[in-house]
Amino acid sequence: MNEPLDLAIIGAGPCGISVGASAAQAGKRTVLFDKGCVTASLIGYPYYMTFFSTAKKLEIAGVPFTIVNDKPSRREALAYYRRVVEHYDMEVRQYEEVLDISGAEGDFVLRTRKRDMTESTVHARAIVMATGGFHEPNRLGVPGEDLGKALHYYQEPYPFYDQDVVIVGAGNSAVECALEIYRTGGRVTLVHFDEKIDRGVKPWVVPDIKNRLERGEIPVFWKHRIAEITPGTVILRNEDTGEKTEIKNDWVLAMTGWRANPVALRALGVEFDEETGIPHHDRETMETNVPGVFIAGVLAAGHNANKIFIENGKLHGPKILDALASD
Ligand code: FAD
Repeated sequence: MNEPLDLAIIGAGPCGISVGASAAQAGKRTVLFDKGCVTASLIGYPYYMTFFSTAKKLEIAGVPFTIVNDKPSRREALAYYRRVVEHYDMEVRQYEEVLDISGAEGDFVLRTRKRDMTESTVHARAIVMATGGFHEPNRLGVPGEDLGKALHYYQEPYPFYDQDVVIVGAGNSAVECALEIYRTGGRVTLVHFDEKIDRGVKPWVVPDIKNRLERGEIPVFWKHRIAEITPGTVILRNEDTGEKTEIKNDWVLAMTGWRANPVALRALGVEFDEETGIPHHDRETMETNVPGVFIAGVLAAGHNANKIFIENGKLHGPKILDALASD
């Protein structure tokens, strides 16, 4: 007999782990499922990144995050969240994807698949979806995007030495990879539909990128979009005039963000605000319009992943466990 869990958490990112820690504190029989490893999305971040948040703000459930500097590196954060999982003795089924969920409050049925393709069913009284916002990239939607030279992720600058690289976007990811590649001997050109860098760019990075742009060390095409990618060039289109410019090119790094694709939530009957992409939920409890189905982390931000991050997404765990305690 498959004894139901008190809680199944889908997604073992920082915010799913935060729910897991609250559940452990409340003595709930809980399992976390992740289609990758623990904090799989942080694994894919640029190798040498530094978080914009201080370690203190990234702390979960009272486990101290102690480092020498105030802001952690990717490696320090990976070690920390692993430590939280161990500290609370959480059961995380890594590399086990949740394919779909059926049933209702008190007896949800999760169908899961491991890497060896074996499928299982797991019963749970309540579920928390903490599947993040990194399911699929915001594609450019232009001819040539599938040529193999347009990438939607970036990890390190070395592959781009002595290469002509167009970086699309002007947020943190775009700016940081532009600077890293420029300093590693790549020829970087920035292309952005707006006429300035994004407001959210880390304040200590702003002077560096502004100086490079002003001096022409990193050429920039403001108010332009990519119109087409060819094997040896990209064709840019001016947003105002429609005029096209063709430039030599080896790689296109589209730092244009990612989006969630919460099909399992929709299948359960969770309603969405189609404009914002936000699942209907009570902000105090994080419960959706389907009783027993909760959301946590950046998934609750819909299309605007910048609204919820670890600093505030980690607060969802205590809210959810408070709601379950008062049931
Ligand atoms: P995620 O971390 O995305 O975790 C979701 C998990 O769900 C993944 O592990 C995924 O494998 C799993 N999953 C998805 N679907 C399934 C399924 N069907 N079955 C099983 N598992 C599934 N935030 C800050 O607060 N401070 C910072 O300084 C900061 N810096 C950042 C720097 C970069 C470069 C980036 C990209 C982001 C940064 N963020 C920062 C944002 C932060 O990393 C995210 O907000 C955070 O990862 C969200 O956590 P989450 O648990 O909601 O989702």
